[in-house]
Amino acid sequence: MSAKKVIVTGATGRTGSLVVKKLRQLSDQFEVISLGRSEEKIKQLFGSDEGFLKGNISDKSTLETAFKGCDSLVILTSAVPKMKAPPQEGERPEFTFEPGGMPEEVDWIGQKNQIDTAKELGINHIVLVGSMGGTNPNHPLNKIGNGNILIWKRKAEDYLINSGINYTIIRAGGLLDKPGGKRELIVGKNDTLLINPPNDIPTSIPREDVAEVVVKALIEPSAKNKAFDIISKPEDDNSAVITKDFSALFEQTTPGL
Ligand code: NAP
Repeated sequence: MSAKKVIVTGATGRTGSLVVKKLRQLSDQFEVISLGRSEEKIKQLFGSDEGFLKGNISDKSTLETAFKGCDSLVILTSAVPKMKAPPQEGERPEFTFEPGGMPEEVDWIGQKNQIDTAKELGINHIVLVGSMGGTNPNHPLNKIGNGNILIWKRKAEDYLINSGINYTIIRAGGLLDKPGGKRELIVGKNDTLLINPPNDIPTSIPREDVAEVVVKALIEPSAKNKAFDIISKPEDDNSAVITKDFSALFEQTTPGL
C-alpha cells in the first residue's frame, strides 16, 4: 500500500507540531507536508524547513500549491489571542488579536479557504481540531478580544460537514502540555461533558493525546464523518483504563455537528 499524502496546517502550533512529529514517525503510512507561516518557528521546532511550505491560510493561491496531490488535510490553525500588557495586581489580563488574526478571519474565513481548496483539489478527508464550548454563545472564550472565537469555529465545522468531504471534527477540552498515552479518553457531544463531566473530573486533555487522536482518525475508518467532544480522565484516576483501541473510541461517536 502506498503512503497517504497528508497536509497539516498550523504545523508550528503546539498541537500541530506534535501531529507532524507523529506522522513523520509513520513514514511507511504517511507522506507529510506541513504548512507554517514563520520560518523562525519552523527552524526552532524542527531544526530545518524540510517538508515545510510557507504560507498563510488567508492566501488561497498558497493553499492550492500546498494541497495539490494530497489525500487528507489536518486543520490545526486557530486564531491566537495575545495578552495586551501584563495585568496590574488584582486586574484581569486583557487580550487582543493581531491585525488579520481575528477569529472571523482565521477560524471562519481561513478554515473555509482550506475546505474550499480541499474540495477543488479532490482531497478525500479533513480532520479538524476545534474546541468544546461552541453550543454556548455566552461562553467566556467568546469574550476574549471580542472575537467570538467559538461561534466562528462552529460555523466552520458546520461548513465542513456540509461540504461533502469526509470529515472528523475533534472538539477538545482544555489542552494540557502533559504526556500522552497515559489516560482514558472520553468522547461526547453537544458540550454535555463540559456541562456535566463524569465524577466532576477536569474537562481537559493533553495535546499529545489530541495529536494521537488526529493520527488515528487518519487511519481508522470508524472516524470518518464524525464530530465529537473529547476530554480525559486524570492520569491518577484509579478507575481509568488507558485508551488504546481508537477504533472502538470512534465507534462511540456520531455524525453531524
Ligand atoms: P496553537 O498553538 O495556538 O496553534 C495555532 C496555529 O495556527 C499556529 O501554528 C499559528 O501559526 C497558526 N495560524 C494562526 N493564524 C494563521 C494564519 N493566518 N495562517 C497560517 N497559520 C496560522 O494551537 P493549540 O493551542 O495547539 O490548539 C489547537 C486547537 O485546539 C485550536 O483550534 C484551539 O482553539 C483548540 N483548543 C484549544 C484549547 C486550549 O486550552 N488552548 C482548548 C480546546 C481546544 P504560528 O505558529 O505562526 O503562530
